[in-house]
Amino acid sequence: MSFYLRPPTGFTTIFNLEKTVRQRLLCYEKILTEDIRNTIADLECLVEDSTLDRLGHHLFRLLAFKNSSFCPAFVANEIELLGLRLSAYNPDEALKFVISLKSQCRTCLRAIEEEGRVKNYFIALNKVCSKLLSYFHSPDDVSTAQIEVHYTYCFDLLAKRQYNLVNGMMLINCTDWRALLMSLYKSYLHLALFDMKFIPTVNNALQDERIRDALILARELFFRNNSLRKFGSLDVTHFEEEIPNFPLCMKSLYNNLSKNNRLGHNARFDFSLFLKDIGMEITDAFEFWRRFYSKQHSSCSSCTHSWEENEKRYIYGIKHLYGLEGSRKTYNVKDCSQMQSMTLGATEEGGCPFQHFDDNNLRSLLRSSLPADSSENIEIIINERRANPKRGCEKFLDSVVEKDAVNDELHFKNPAEYYFLLKSMNSEV
Ligand code: SF4
Repeated sequence: MSFYLRPPTGFTTIFNLEKTVRQRLLCYEKILTEDIRNTIADLECLVEDSTLDRLGHHLFRLLAFKNSSFCPAFVANEIELLGLRLSAYNPDEALKFVISLKSQCRTCLRAIEEEGRVKNYFIALNKVCSKLLSYFHSPDDVSTAQIEVHYTYCFDLLAKRQYNLVNGMMLINCTDWRALLMSLYKSYLHLALFDMKFIPTVNNALQDERIRDALILARELFFRNNSLRKFGSLDVTHFEEEIPNFPLCMKSLYNNLSKNNRLGHNARFDFSLFLKDIGMEITDAFEFWRRFYSKQHSSCSSCTHSWEENEKRYIYGIKHLYGLEGSRKTYNVKDCSQMQSMTLGATEEGGCPFQHFDDNNLRSLLRSSLPADSSENIEIIINERRANPKRGCEKFLDSVVEKDAVNDELHFKNPAEYYFLLKSMNSEV
């Protein structure tokens, strides 16, 4: 019953580390399903506030600190988990939760010597706990009906515009205590993840071979599981940094889009689905496509439409791909085999470069994606794709992985899986 304010202490076994990783990931996988309560009931490592529960949370916090692709999934799932627990509390349990949170908060406050953001957060959290305790003891007392919290500690609630804001303080009804605690928890996780840079024991933990092995296991399982990865939203503010992780089919479409500010209809469909599948939020998708389609198209572009004249149509199209319009079907990027079996017209974009490009075009695309001294490697890749285009792509992936890849790890069946595989292999933990 806590925000996991303090790391677990004591001893555990390697077996427990592995079990904790597997069970917490299973919880993440099921968290939005109706079956989640039954699932959790069977998981020993998810018994609330047990040593294994705290161990799992702090292991995953370490992974989120080291791996920016895992971080959004960690925060989103941990908040869902807290929400699930809070929604199951009866009044007595809610009271115990706040008492325990206040006690841990005071312990943390005593341990923090320096003034600053972390200390200010705990002071604010302590005040909220005191107010909630008064409310739980006398719910009908009007003087305990509202809590004042600075808006920076509950951005989620600020965005809902439900509460009055006076001099930076939000007035929140105590009846909304669950939403308030979840919002405070989210702020805490972001603060804690940021603060980890300055804590020497974090580095010590990351150097520990047993912990590293557990984090590598968590990372591998996370990136291999479709339903888990969906949580990992694409950070569009660093979009350009993601491009080296794109497979050549998508890199080639992005090159065309950057050059012409337009893509043909089918290519736009394929590229949009790829971006969705690697975690682009729908609002970011509107902005992404608006940015290109508001510019002048190039003379050789097959599409001459503009965002201004066709905004409704484009927005409808994007919503459709995200399953929010029309048949509300969930669309996903095509498999490599489908991409390779596409019949393309002479000027049509798309398909798989390892299947559809001639040697010269493929060579030039490979040169732009590999280090300057890769000529020999490029010829091996071209040779390989003649016999088997997918194998050519796997050879290419092998060349761009920054550390030694284990060949049997290179399994992907579509461009989004390629992206996640490369990201997981190049990430630090
Ligand atoms: S093999 Fe698949 S991922 Fe690789 S370039 Fe072709 S379609 Fe894209």
